[in-house]
Amino acid sequence: MKRFFTFILAFYVVLGCKSQKNDVTTVDPHKFSKTITSDELSDYLYTFSSDEFEGRDTGEPGQKKASEYLKNYYSSLNIDGASEEGNPYFQTITSEYFNGKYNDSENVISIIRGSEIPEEYLVLTSHYDHIGIKNGKIFNGADDDGSGTVAIMEIAEAFQKAALDGYRPKRSIVFLHVTAEEKGLLGSKYYSENPIFPLENTVANLNIDMIGRVDEAHEDNDDYVYLIGSDKLSTELHEISEAVNEKYVNLDLDYKYNAEDDPNRFYYRSDHYNFAKHDIPVIFYFNGVHEDYHRATDTPDKIRYDLLEKRAKLIFFTAWEIANRETRPYVDQPTLD
Ligand SMILES: [Zn+2]
Repeated sequence: MKRFFTFILAFYVVLGCKSQKNDVTTVDPHKFSKTITSDELSDYLYTFSSDEFEGRDTGEPGQKKASEYLKNYYSSLNIDGASEEGNPYFQTITSEYFNGKYNDSENVISIIRGSEIPEEYLVLTSHYDHIGIKNGKIFNGADDDGSGTVAIMEIAEAFQKAALDGYRPKRSIVFLHVTAEEKGLLGSKYYSENPIFPLENTVANLNIDMIGRVDEAHEDNDDYVYLIGSDKLSTELHEISEAVNEKYVNLDLDYKYNAEDDPNRFYYRSDHYNFAKHDIPVIFYFNGVHEDYHRATDTPDKIRYDLLEKRAKLIFFTAWEIANRETRPYVDQPTLD
């Protein structure tokens, strides 16, 4: 008996020390980012953008396979679903919302709850739908937006690893894979009209849509990513993003498409806009367009997995900082009254 109690006592001493040492604000997040690897990104993307998923057209069987795939992934990592429906990983959008044009579909949503400020949420988004099959050709959508999808999967794994090691983020982090982006940002619009977590407590949205390729303008300098929107609502978010990049990743951050008069208007063209219009600060991560954009030739063999890893790590470190800093990014340039 005595030996047993000695053992229990030793156990508590070890545990006690461990919990004192686990300060999420001083630990180096590098060690958790190491779980984000080009090998895993490639493994996941070759499955996710394979012909089996039939181009992931909203409401069609291929999209259903994709949502099941995501659900099974989060469930296997023991990351909780965030919905209160029968299936906790799905936010169902009925055909009615699509004016009957598409079958029922679903956003896939999961959460790692915060340790200190769990009622504040950082939302990471990427769309997992694509444009299906046309004239017998499957549009695999490896870059658009398989690349963003698998990046979020890997980022979630890194945060879960940190949480299991005792470094749970202070704020909650929501992993939101939206549907029906290709139909006009409808999955994210639905979420913003039916938010599972209050929009006023949503501190920022980091949206990823196409980060696995290199555009023509960067053929000679491929160590880049376009950032759009980072300074539009919160100067502080922009400064955080720049400082994190400088400290951890050192990509060339290209703001060409962030210009107010840019004719492409990308700021209004992906899912982050449904957050930004509610004055939630956003950053949109993007590699620009390329010759395979919205063509059947957007396939996984053309992805630059080394770059995809680096860009995913930048987003992980940025999310880490936003989730763990003292205060949420201050909105100094609101657009609403
Ligand atoms: Zn897209």
